[in-house]
Amino acid sequence: MQLRYAFRLDPTLVQRRALGRAFGCARVVFNDAIAARRAARENGEAFPTDAQLSKALTAAKRTPQRAWLGEVSAVVLQQALAEANTAYRNFFASIKGTRKGRKLGVPRFRSRKDRAQSIRFTKAARFRVTSAGRLRLPGIGDVPVRWSRELPSEPTSVTVTVDAVGRYHASFVVEAPDAPLPPVDREVGIDLGLTHFAVLSDGTKVDAPRFARKAQAKLARAQKELARRQKGSANREKSRRNVARAHVRVADTRRDWLHKLSTTIVQENQLIAVEDLAVSGLARTRLARSVHDAGWSTFVAMLTYKAQRHGRTLVKVDRWFPSTRACSACGAVGEAKPLHVRTWTCGCGTTHDRDVNAARNILAAGRAVLPVETTSDPGRPGQLPVKQEPTGSAARPAAQTGIPAVHGGEDVNGGDRPRTPRRMSGGGRAHGHGRRPPEGSGRSAGRYKRRAPLKVLRLTVE
Ligand SMILES: [Zn+2]
Repeated sequence: MQLRYAFRLDPTLVQRRALGRAFGCARVVFNDAIAARRAARENGEAFPTDAQLSKALTAAKRTPQRAWLGEVSAVVLQQALAEANTAYRNFFASIKGTRKGRKLGVPRFRSRKDRAQSIRFTKAARFRVTSAGRLRLPGIGDVPVRWSRELPSEPTSVTVTVDAVGRYHASFVVEAPDAPLPPVDREVGIDLGLTHFAVLSDGTKVDAPRFARKAQAKLARAQKELARRQKGSANREKSRRNVARAHVRVADTRRDWLHKLSTTIVQENQLIAVEDLAVSGLARTRLARSVHDAGWSTFVAMLTYKAQRHGRTLVKVDRWFPSTRACSACGAVGEAKPLHVRTWTCGCGTTHDRDVNAARNILAAGRAVLPVETTSDPGRPGQLPVKQEPTGSAARPAAQTGIPAVHGGEDVNGGDRPRTPRRMSGGGRAHGHGRRPPEGSGRSAGRYKRRAPLKVLRLTVE
């Protein structure tokens, strides 16, 4: 499967200037393409095709106003054009409803003040990693890279970004081989909790660790301070930079934490059933949850690609499934439970924690769609190809978000870094290896062994 591997870059001053020029040129090409499409729309003309826009770009390079575009690799400019085209295609698909997930707005102009700037080099641009371990970018030079791991194969493209606090990254797209883990017979259902980030069917309640909450609080303070500053003042500029730094910190800590959490869950469980919130053009009424939603889609995207890569099964249970109302012990579906009801007792006599009960129901729903027999049956209805969702970080360019990103802490196989996942708060669960039952033991280990992995199933009940 395709993965993105990201590394920090340390460009020299000269290289920074060249990168700055390239970011600027890519932005102008992107904006020219958006402007051309808007103009066509306003004049009631046919939408310019990708080919027409490409021709217009070539012509523009010969005009005095745009001649400086010639200083930058043509591939970078063509990629910027491709990103504008993709943005429009996604926008139209979103309007038509053929694109899943959040509704997209009309593509907007990019600004020098945007949180992240990016350029992309494909193979055609002849970028390469030199024998000295530097990243050779045409028109930029040999840029020093902080390698933290090896690339599993030759990259097909690289995106270079600079974020709001001036950090440069290279994000390589590579074909990574599957790395199946030995089967285990644990299974888990995960509910997006009301007061917790996630609640597992074994009763574990997972919260963001204190350092992440601290970073979030710091960001809130910085934003408040910024709002008080006078426009155009030196202090406002300082506050703006503080906010940018706090943003980056929140995004980084959250991503690292989600990587560790998703890795642990994939290591320990053969079947992972999650609530699917992707059906979200619709208004979300459960406001208490909205705080966690951004992190949740990133988390599910991580679980999805890790499950696929490591031979686990991920089931997304539609959120219309009455996970809260049904009793996980007897199956009776009761009244809707108001949000303040934390525990309730079913007619059958079982007392439930609201969130744990929901997680158990999600697991049961996930199990229900798996074949009972051990033959693999690829033609079953209801099986969809793995869906890859944006991983949503400020440092990532919009056009590339479809490919999962590898960062620190995600090595399910132990990998080349000695980092161990931090403990989840609240549940007191142990982590990592060593807790697996012997291979082949138990009912479900055998059941899974002959199943084709790589399946994401979608279930709709009701
Ligand atoms: Zn019951």
